[in-house]
Amino acid sequence: MKLINDSSCSWINDLSLRHNIKTLEKNENCDWLIIGAGYTGLSAARKLSQLLPNKKIILVDAQLAGEGASSRNSGYLVDTTLNDGFTSNKDLENYKKKTNIYKLGIEAVKKFVKEYQVDCDWNECGKYFASSNQIDNKILKNFSETLSKLDFKHKILFNNDLFKRLGTNFYNVALYTKGGILLHPGKLVRAMIDTLPENINLYENSLLLNWKKVNGKITCNFMNGSINSKNVIFATNGFLKSLGIKKNYNFPITLTASMTRSLSDKEFKSIGEPKEWGVLPVRPMGATIRMTKDRRILIRNTAEIHSPYKMSKLDLNKRYNKQKIGIKKRFPQLPDDIIQSTWSGIVSRSRNGSQIFEKLDDNIFVAGCYNGSGIGVGTLFGEQIAIKASGEYTEEIKVIESRKKTTWLPPDPFLTLGVKCRLIYERFRARSET
Ligand SMILES: Cc1cc2nc3c(=O)[nH]c(=O)nc-3n(C[C@H](O)[C@H](O)[C@H](O)COP(=O)(O)OP(=O)(O)OC[C@H]3O[C@@H](n4cnc5c(N)ncnc54)[C@H](O)[C@@H]3O)c2cc1C
Repeated sequence: MKLINDSSCSWINDLSLRHNIKTLEKNENCDWLIIGAGYTGLSAARKLSQLLPNKKIILVDAQLAGEGASSRNSGYLVDTTLNDGFTSNKDLENYKKKTNIYKLGIEAVKKFVKEYQVDCDWNECGKYFASSNQIDNKILKNFSETLSKLDFKHKILFNNDLFKRLGTNFYNVALYTKGGILLHPGKLVRAMIDTLPENINLYENSLLLNWKKVNGKITCNFMNGSINSKNVIFATNGFLKSLGIKKNYNFPITLTASMTRSLSDKEFKSIGEPKEWGVLPVRPMGATIRMTKDRRILIRNTAEIHSPYKMSKLDLNKRYNKQKIGIKKRFPQLPDDIIQSTWSGIVSRSRNGSQIFEKLDDNIFVAGCYNGSGIGVGTLFGEQIAIKASGEYTEEIKVIESRKKTTWLPPDPFLTLGVKCRLIYERFRARSET
């Protein structure tokens, strides 16, 4: 069983190769063990080491640290989301709680970036929720009312304005929100690895096979050794369910994305030389599409139930073709063969769009399930779960714990069947938007 499913993600390929990778080859004991080294696990490790500098802390990942979803996402550090289960005016209170968490997430990433002087192409340019479909005007009007009630700066834009800003006449209506940041997700997570404090032992390419707690002792078994730890934090997000954690409260979804090469001067001119921008879909199964600051176009237009462990070249190729069409629909003047890489990544979803942040048992904690918005929330939850696990309490924990909890999901095969049906329905509803 291997977690790595492909090695062709442009964000990862932009980074330098890492050296001195350590793999777990023997049995170990420690005070704190963190499983999963994405934004959540790395932030938890950094915080624990500040709180408990004399404790032995081990961080383990099944693949190279940071090279799961944390390097494979679209790079939107969001302040607001539209398709998250809590966006209607009816559920204003829960939507507000959710945006309070996003706000804290942005602050957590901002603080990290400032403190360590991280260059991750940070751009506070806001984002668009856009649609080609006039009917979606209504959804955006309702969303606008919700945002006005919560004082989020935003405006609704139409075709001509959108054409000028985005360089495509595909979209007819959009809601632009001023908050929210675009960044390079790979550079951000790499900085979290590079700045790990010295008292963290990082083991990579070391898959946790199973774990148990007997008479208060927690044992985690890996391919070539086991670790006995007094405390464990699970930060495996899309893989929580496969480890039996909160298995009736979250499920994995596989997303695929593609990125083009940088557009040439001529190509860039042909689309009106727009500034960096990011578009999120109005309907859940529409495309996320982004123009990077170095003139590359990223598109993500699939979300599906798939084995979380691998996506074959053939499967990835099918998604590539879909993404090629998605780019062509928006930028017909660009050549057919400009996609440079196509990759998949796993996220964790809950039924009601809420997240997991809790103590599972004495000395066992978990944070995850960000429903596709884990850059800020993962960083925040990682830090705060470390604080909670070490027995402290903060204002941030108060905000996190006031959210609605994730709701119960039926077991398989009912769950998979239900999710597949829902995805087919949502795909149909968003058929013009992929
Ligand atoms: C295509 C795509 C686009 C996305 N776009 C955005 C976006 O624009 N904005 C946003 O905020 N979020 C986005 N997301 C979601 C975001 O990437 C995740 O929410 C975030 O990376 C979660 O961080 P994490 O550290 O909790 O999980 P991960 O980054 O998934 O890290 C978990 C780690 O656990 C490890 N692991 C799993 N199982 C085991 C095991 N058994 N043993 C040891 N290690 C294990 C994995 O190898 C992995 O490295 C997107 C995701 C994808 C895939």
